[in-house]
Amino acid sequence: MKITGPKGTHDILYKNIYKWQFIESQLKNLVELYDYQEMRTPIFENTDLFLRGVGDTTDIVDKEMYTFKDKGDRSITLRPEGTAGVVRSFIEHSCYNEVLPGKFYYYGPMFRYSRPQAGRYRQFHQFGVEALGSADPFLDGEVLELMMNMFKALGLKQLKLEINSVGCPVCRPIHKEKLKDYLKSHYDQLCPTCQSRYEKNPLRIFDCKSLTCQEIIQKGPYVTDNLCDDCENHFIKVKEYLDMVELEYEVNKKMVRGLDYYTKTAFEVSAGREGSQSSIGGGGRYDGLVEELGGPELSGIGFAIGLERIVMTMDEQMLFEGKFESVNKVFIASVSSNEIPETVRLVSLLRKNDIHALRDTMNRKLKAQFKYANKIGADYVITIGDEEVSSKIYTLKNMKTSKEESYVESDLINILKGENNEFKK
Ligand code: AMP
Repeated sequence: MKITGPKGTHDILYKNIYKWQFIESQLKNLVELYDYQEMRTPIFENTDLFLRGVGDTTDIVDKEMYTFKDKGDRSITLRPEGTAGVVRSFIEHSCYNEVLPGKFYYYGPMFRYSRPQAGRYRQFHQFGVEALGSADPFLDGEVLELMMNMFKALGLKQLKLEINSVGCPVCRPIHKEKLKDYLKSHYDQLCPTCQSRYEKNPLRIFDCKSLTCQEIIQKGPYVTDNLCDDCENHFIKVKEYLDMVELEYEVNKKMVRGLDYYTKTAFEVSAGREGSQSSIGGGGRYDGLVEELGGPELSGIGFAIGLERIVMTMDEQMLFEGKFESVNKVFIASVSSNEIPETVRLVSLLRKNDIHALRDTMNRKLKAQFKYANKIGADYVITIGDEEVSSKIYTLKNMKTSKEESYVESDLINILKGENNEFKK
């Protein structure tokens, strides 16, 4: 029986890898320009990290974690997001004694056990950024600017940035109480999920898909209406920065985001699509997280962008056209098996000179070797017969123009390396 990949996972095939590599290199260059450095943390962590970090009233922790016991009976979880691991590592290695703010980025697979659908996987990839140690609202602005510039660098169109303030431990509990007061009289109309959210995390009712719940919650108080002075001023400053750098945004008072650790600024970005899988990235400030995870009292802000969603959107917006960079390939054919040793020698020599060279390894006849050369998109073909073996003069055929020219070995290498390369594409 054929074994298939696990449900909710996907393979990135060799013919699509250029898309991923293009995105990865663009993003990496840009974040490094903003002085962020890469952190690589394990893809599994002790489960407690996420219980404490992400929050046990969130859907991610409540329903979506890949948690298992290892052979030493420890509870292990495949990371559902990247922030908790980076913050854990930052604390564990006392990076807070070094330069502040600590500016880090990460890239890699994340794991969430959710119902797979287009743009929603159980293993997916996030590229994220974290800035730890500064409470400056202009840093929020800069982080937002960076995120939008990342999307712009990829050429994404119809970008929509939505921002909100979700308050802090001072004003959020007051808001929560006001919200619960309002919801009390509507409790019976709420769906069962929102009834359980009512006690634990009533703000999450904004995320409910039920029309009745939406109608109810939209008429209730918004967190932005109950911000304390500190949060209110912070939000004003963030918007001031966005205006200074002429970054367009919308305030979405309904946005609460799925993770518990956010304080003050929260944001999300989409690119043209509507609906539940439309977000290509999001993040926010998390001023209590470093302390919550056992570190000093330090602020933090960050975001993560979803690579699968980006690839999907770029495909839809046809942004990969012309992004495939082909290299000059040289195929070396041998007329018969007698010339194989010379073919091997020449391929090996060209490769030592950084030339993309290859030969047949399927015992093909000469004609089939030429067909193969065409199929793999060889730019040049050199055919080795007994004459070439004895004369060491090689005829290079340009497959596009069919032009042929003969060279001794050193000239051949120079030509293929691009020096005086009249054959160059
Ligand atoms: P979050 O960590 O939930 O804020 O998600 C940040 C980004 O990761 C989202 O905007 C999506 O682009 C992406 N993302 C989140 N969950 C998934 C998933 N299950 N499958 C694919 N992408 C996801």
